[in-house]
Amino acid sequence: MGKPRRLIVIGNGMSGIATLEHLLKKTNDMDITVFGTEPYVNYNRVLLSTVLSGESLLNDIILNPQEWYDKNGIKLHTGTTITKIDKDNKIVVSDQGDYHPYDTLLIATGSNPFIPPIKGIKMSDGTQRPGIFTFRNLDDTRTMMEWARKSRKAIVIGGGLLGLEAAKGLVNQGMDVTVAHLMDRLMEMQLDTASAEILRQEVTRLGINVLLSHSAEEVITDGEEIAGVRFTNGSAYEADMVVISAGIRPNISIAADSGISVNRGIIVDDYMQTNVPGIFAVGECVEHRGKIYGIVAPIIEQAKVAAGAISGDSRVMYKGSIIATKLKVADIPLAAIGNIRQSVGCEEIVFSDPGVSVYRKLVIQGGIIAGAILLGDLKGYERYVQLIQDQEDISLQRKTILFDQPETFKSVASMPDNTTICGCMGVSKGEIIKAIQEHELTGIQGISEKTRACTSCKGCAPLIEQILQNVLGGEYVKHEGLQDFCDCIPMTWEEIKKEVILLGLKSVSKILKIMGNGHGCASCRHGLNYLLTELYIDDFEKEPDTLPLNDMVHANVQKDETFSVVPRTFGGVITPNELRVIADVADRYEVPMVKITGGQRIDLLGIKREQLQSVWSDLNMPSGHAYTKAFRTCKTCVGDMFCRYGVQDSVSLGIKMEKLFQGIPCPGKVKMGVSGCPRSCVETKIKDVGIVGIQTGWEVYVGGNGGVKTRIAELLAVVNTGEEVLDITGIFLQYYRENARWTERTSNFVERVGIEHIREELLEDTSGKVDNYRDRIRQVIEAYKDPWAASQKESLIS
Ligand SMILES: Cc1cc2nc3c(=O)[nH]c(=O)nc-3n(C[C@H](O)[C@H](O)[C@H](O)COP(=O)(O)OP(=O)(O)OC[C@H]3O[C@@H](n4cnc5c(N)ncnc54)[C@H](O)[C@@H]3O)c2cc1C
Repeated sequence: MGKPRRLIVIGNGMSGIATLEHLLKKTNDMDITVFGTEPYVNYNRVLLSTVLSGESLLNDIILNPQEWYDKNGIKLHTGTTITKIDKDNKIVVSDQGDYHPYDTLLIATGSNPFIPPIKGIKMSDGTQRPGIFTFRNLDDTRTMMEWARKSRKAIVIGGGLLGLEAAKGLVNQGMDVTVAHLMDRLMEMQLDTASAEILRQEVTRLGINVLLSHSAEEVITDGEEIAGVRFTNGSAYEADMVVISAGIRPNISIAADSGISVNRGIIVDDYMQTNVPGIFAVGECVEHRGKIYGIVAPIIEQAKVAAGAISGDSRVMYKGSIIATKLKVADIPLAAIGNIRQSVGCEEIVFSDPGVSVYRKLVIQGGIIAGAILLGDLKGYERYVQLIQDQEDISLQRKTILFDQPETFKSVASMPDNTTICGCMGVSKGEIIKAIQEHELTGIQGISEKTRACTSCKGCAPLIEQILQNVLGGEYVKHEGLQDFCDCIPMTWEEIKKEVILLGLKSVSKILKIMGNGHGCASCRHGLNYLLTELYIDDFEKEPDTLPLNDMVHANVQKDETFSVVPRTFGGVITPNELRVIADVADRYEVPMVKITGGQRIDLLGIKREQLQSVWSDLNMPSGHAYTKAFRTCKTCVGDMFCRYGVQDSVSLGIKMEKLFQGIPCPGKVKMGVSGCPRSCVETKIKDVGIVGIQTGWEVYVGGNGGVKTRIAELLAVVNTGEEVLDITGIFLQYYRENARWTERTSNFVERVGIEHIREELLEDTSGKVDNYRDRIRQVIEAYKDPWAASQKESLIS
């Protein structure tokens, strides 16, 4: 047996390692060495934004841990830069001065951020001024986060995808952020004027200040420190941190210096080979047929081809990629597919509703879709990609193509097997099904490990969950990325639920005895108690000590161990008599503070525990549930009853909602709001369920949160009547109750499951469960008892 061929990979990033993953499927007789400048194993660069925004840690974004390299016999040199390629002697030289011979070389050096010539970026000694950042790697991200902690105002230069992601991350770090963009619209590469304007509005709503047509001229300094940025139009803005996100440039210097052909990128042929036999290149550093790619999906296609060519299999060639990518720009779903530029003979089919931040456009050339923009509503994405790939003539479908999706594309079940499910990693439905069946996979993590699907932007997670559901049927329980519910019962929430049903367990103590450590802790006992209410409504063994103090005494304990008592004021409307009663109670019990809450209610603070029963009795009003994981309150504005702008009766609807859903236990607290017009004075878009009156009826938004991490609710449905609002809210609430994990707020739940999937489930009834949800929530509503009244009765009886 001859010596194994030596393969050296320069660049431990996404494309280099993707090539190795594909190569290892074809051959394991190569001696592989990887060099990476960064001091880390291979991680998912796409998810750096989530690190910056505080949603992920390094561990969460690692793609291949050290064990993967070890297992596959790959020698990894982190923190090592290759400084020279000696192509004649087939040797690379590292910055440590070592020489490494190779038989085959793969260059995967990615890109460098482009830094425009702006005065003040460099200090007098030529180094970059502290406080000025680019956003390319983990170290950039970490230092940015550290700097943000001691800073107040950031200016992000560049309003492309990365600039906006950086801006959002910094807003999450508590900074006051301005994005200054050279062009007259954001993300001009992916968006046209109208969609870019909708995006601008949404971005502004996140608290990011946007300056368009602003070209940075100088970083203003105060001594060595950054004081702001001046623009060529004379305006200047204060800042103590500047992030430059003005595009990327392929990292070609090492190839160029060694005499490999380069243009804007390293020039490669259809096998990803450079002009030097045995030297291949992939990723952002390459130029193929004159094109350079800056997103993951095309570079993964390149990686597959390079792996084939390196292993000696030249059947697959790279012919270039249709750029089709789902992006999540500052939490706003966006897909840009193909070519969206208008050229001679192009036609456009457009739907635009800035009121709900939805924009859908198809660019048609000679009867064939050339490109598409989907903003705010990604329905049809897979179909349009397929149509562009197949160059199918859509002339006869033009009346319906923007809205009606044929049965085959309505749900994953009916999509053809060659439909791309993970656009980033180029994984088809058929490949996922094969992996599930061959490896008996039961969750997304396994599928990611075997196929690499859902390892990048994770936007395909809901589709993969549907595939799992279709393939495994009733066997499928959502396991993914889940931690055990609690150390006392080391199983996931889903596993516990399945087991509790299977074993017919009806008390927290039995669950803990059979499945856990026997006693549990305050936190898991509470969660299990909720599980029983969700499964059996009222028909289970009540064990008061499974509840936290607040839920036991139906009031909210304060730091001085007194309680806050909040009676319910349906829809925030209160009668003079109720006001008098509250005032009398406050006087009678010498309540130290009476306070209007954020949820339009009156809070009596400082009640002693022994006073609680008589306070409730004297109030004789229902509990406002200001203390538990349940539906709490429904804020309303005055709507068309009094307001000049109101177009709908928000007060009546809000009262009905609060009466219907009052006190219903949920996995997390649930707050609602009804606005009588799109001005949304009750901040409906940061509610778990937010209803907005429009001329023709109501919009129903779900998954908003105004708390620690603000999240704008997403549009679930537009309906005509208040009755329909109550119906869809009830169905959504029950869907959330049954499918969310304990303590998962609707904002996280909607984020995890995906609004499109929720729409399919609840509006299109793809799983056929809507009647069941409707029926269950009705039973829950009917079983509801006011806890204060119930506890009065109990005390009378005992
Ligand atoms: C913040 C951020 C968000 C993004 N979001 C998205 C997104 O939502 N969707 C999407 O599709 N794409 C996104 N991208 C782009 C995507 O990450 C890149 O397309 C992809 O990482 C490119 O892979 P690559 O292997 O070509 O380069 P990289 O992943 O950058 O890897 C190149 C590696 O080579 C190393 N290197 C360079 N020169 C040398 C040398 N001489 N010696 C040794 N090592 C060297 C570099 O340090 C680097 O680690 C994002 C990028 C960033 C930075």
